[in-house]
Amino acid sequence: MKLLDTFVAKVIEASDYTEDDMFYLRNRVLALVGEDGAEQETQETDLIALKEELVDLAVKNGKVGELMAEKDCLGAELMNFITPIPSQVNRRFWDTYAKSPQQAVADFYDLSKRNDYIKIAAIAKNIAFTTPSQYGDIQITINLSKPEKDPKAIAAAKLTKASSYPKCQLCMENEGYQGRINHPARANHRIIRLNLGDEKWGFQYSPYAYFNEHCIILNTEHVPMVISKNTFAQLLDIVDIFPGYFAGSNSDLPIVGGSILTHNHYQGGRHVFPMEIAELDNEFHFKGYSDVTASYSIHYTKLYDDTQSLSRWSSCLSNGNSRAGQ
Ligand SMILES: [Zn+2]
Repeated sequence: MKLLDTFVAKVIEASDYTEDDMFYLRNRVLALVGEDGAEQETQETDLIALKEELVDLAVKNGKVGELMAEKDCLGAELMNFITPIPSQVNRRFWDTYAKSPQQAVADFYDLSKRNDYIKIAAIAKNIAFTTPSQYGDIQITINLSKPEKDPKAIAAAKLTKASSYPKCQLCMENEGYQGRINHPARANHRIIRLNLGDEKWGFQYSPYAYFNEHCIILNTEHVPMVISKNTFAQLLDIVDIFPGYFAGSNSDLPIVGGSILTHNHYQGGRHVFPMEIAELDNEFHFKGYSDVTASYSIHYTKLYDDTQSLSRWSSCLSNGNSRAGQ
C-alpha cells in the first residue's frame, strides 16, 4: 500500500470528507510533506502511525525541522484533516448532549483521542499503582509521558523571538494554533463552549492525562486563579453538567498550586480519588440543606501536584451533593 493513498483513505473514513475530496486531500498533504517519496510503501494501517510516517517524510524533504516540537506542529496539522471545525464540534456536542450528556462527552473524548490530541501512546508509559496505608489506599503515579526537553530544542527556543500569543496554554486562542518551538502544536485542538453561572467557560481534554478522561475547564478570559465562593458554585455546576466526572481545583497559591496560576481553570475527569471514598470525619450540615452531608479535611498536599486541598474539598461536596440526590 502506498503511504499517501493509505493516509488519505483513512482520513476519508474517519471524517466528513468523501471520495470526491480524494485529489484535494492528496494535494493538501503533498503541500505539507513534500512530493519526493510520496509514493513510498507502508505496512501501517493506523491513522496516527501513518501520520508519523508522513512527518518523517516531511523531515527528509526539508518541509519541517527535526525537533520534536517542529514535528508535532506538522503532525497536528495532518490530524486536523479528521477534526471538524470548532463550530461544528460544538454544534454536534450540544445536539447530542440534548439527547444524552454521556454520549456527547464520550464522542468528544473519542475525537480527542482519534485525532491524536490526547497522547494515548505516551500516557501508556505512565506507571500507576495503589499501596495500602493506615489511612487507606494511597494512589501513586509516576509520570513518564511528557517528553523530556531536548537540549537542541532548549537552544532553539532561546533564539526564538519572544511572543505573548497565545498568552498561555489555557487561552482560547490556542484552538487551531500552529504551535512553535516553545509553544505546543494545537491545529487539532478543539474546545467546547459552556456556561458556568453567567460566565463563559471552555471544556477540553488534557493531552498528557494524569488520570482517566482528565479534562480541563477553563475561563474563556485570561484571568488569574482565584479561590472564592464562586469557585464552589462553579465546581458544583461542573459535576452537574458532566455526569460521572469529578471536579476540582488547584490552589491559587504558588508552589502548592497549579502550574498555570495566570489563567483560571479547573480539572475534572472520570476518576475516583482516595478522598472521595475516605470515611467522613468533621461531618457537618449546611443550614437549610439538611439533606446534604459535607465534611472537610486539611491535608498537606506536597505529595500531589495536581489535586490540592480544594479538589478534596470539592469532591467531599460533590459527594454530599450526589448523596442528596439519591
Ligand atoms: Zn491564558
